[in-house]
Order: sequence, then structure tokens, then C-alpha cells
Amino acid sequence: MANINLHTLHKPGGYGEVVMPEGQGDEHDTYTCCHCNRIVRVLLDASNVGEWCSMCGRLACQSKRCSPALNGCSPFEKKLEAYEAKTRFQHDLDKAVLWANTMAEVKLRA
Ligand SMILES: [Zn+2]
Ligand SMILES: [Zn+2]
Repeated sequence: MANINLHTLHKPGGYGEVVMPEGQGDEHDTYTCCHCNRIVRVLLDASNVGEWCSMCGRLACQSKRCSPALNGCSPFEKKLEAYEAKTRFQHDLDKAVLWANTMAEVKLRA
């Protein structure tokens, strides 16, 4: 029976997360930008840390597009929601057009 080291096995979820012994993980060295979801690596002197967004209560990255001071709060999730709402609307519109066309056809046949 082979001796399988559980710590070197990847999680079934596909994240490829490597489990590090306590205190040696990289987790605390990175954060996710609250506006673009980019993973930012924090250097020791923290000079590459972006601005704090008080709306999200989280850190943004250094990108100007994500700067709360320049562009306000524009979270990635919100952008995604707006996009989804737009596609939903388009979908409803398509359905409405389809329905209208069908009704027109029915009227012509009647
Ligand atoms: Zn960002
Ligand atoms: Zn924000």
C-alpha cells in the first residue's frame, strides 16, 4: 500500500490549493481586489497596496480603474450583476418579440 501524503493532493474542487504547514502559507500575503477580483500580492513594505474602499470595506488594487478616489465604488460583483441584468433584459426582449411575431402570425391565419 502506497503511502499517500494528503497534503500534496489537490482538492477535488480543482483549485489546486497546496496545503502548507501552519505559518508558512502564502494566504496572508495576498488579497483580492474588491473591484476587479484581481489577486494582489502584498510586498513586505506594503508599498503596492491599493486604496481602501469604504463602500466595500475591502482593499482595491493599485489600478486607476479600481481606485475608489478616482472612480468610486465599482465592485466586480456589481459589474457582473449589471451585465446579467442586461442579458436578462435582452432575453426578455427577445421573448417578447418572438411572442409578438407568433401572435401576429396567429392573427394572419385566423
Ligand atoms: Zn482592481
Ligand atoms: Zn468598493
